[in-house]
Amino acid sequence: MDLAELREEVCRVNRMLPVTRLVTMHSGNASGLDRERGRLVIKPSGVDYDALVPADLVEVDLETGEVIESRLRPSVDLPHHLYLYRNMPEVGGVIHTHSNYATAFAAVGKPVPLCLTAIADQFGAEIPCVPYVDNIGDHIGEAILQYRNRSPAVLLGSHGTFAWGESATDALKAAVMTEDVAKTVLLAMQLGQPADIPPDEAEKWYDRYHNRYGQ
Ligand SMILES: [Zn+2]
Repeated sequence: MDLAELREEVCRVNRMLPVTRLVTMHSGNASGLDRERGRLVIKPSGVDYDALVPADLVEVDLETGEVIESRLRPSVDLPHHLYLYRNMPEVGGVIHTHSNYATAFAAVGKPVPLCLTAIADQFGAEIPCVPYVDNIGDHIGEAILQYRNRSPAVLLGSHGTFAWGESATDALKAAVMTEDVAKTVLLAMQLGQPADIPPDEAEKWYDRYHNRYGQ
């Protein structure tokens, strides 16, 4: 994939954020990385998603964090995206949102418990919740690294979510699934206490989904 294709993909993923109801107004951003070239592209700050075109995305050098000739400023969340790419070598796409149901868990500082086979499939663990951190320097990135488990998403206390994957498209899937299972679990909590799936049971679902599911 060349950088033009990466711009296309990351633009499409950003435009999907309001479509999948993960963002309101400008409250989220997606990026994608070309690790070979050491360049990432990220949503520009404060631009409407439906007006976004590939050329608007801001290209950034992974190592220096410097913007490569762009008429627009990058998302203010760029430092957190950079930190995750620099410290998680398997990651090629990152998404940050304040999606409602997942952020409801973040507001009370609770993880999304491993109580559904859909959570076992996709995440293989609870979706952890990082205690509140401010937005200074690497605080968010460091907290994510400290609290993450095998799941490709975390909740940030009193804030929102970060999700990631091998590509921006994979990160979108993780972000959408985070919101979807958070919604189901929150509904379940109105009816009673959701029952945790034991780790050895969860492993069966995770293994099937990651090693045998699909074409
Ligand atoms: Zn945020």
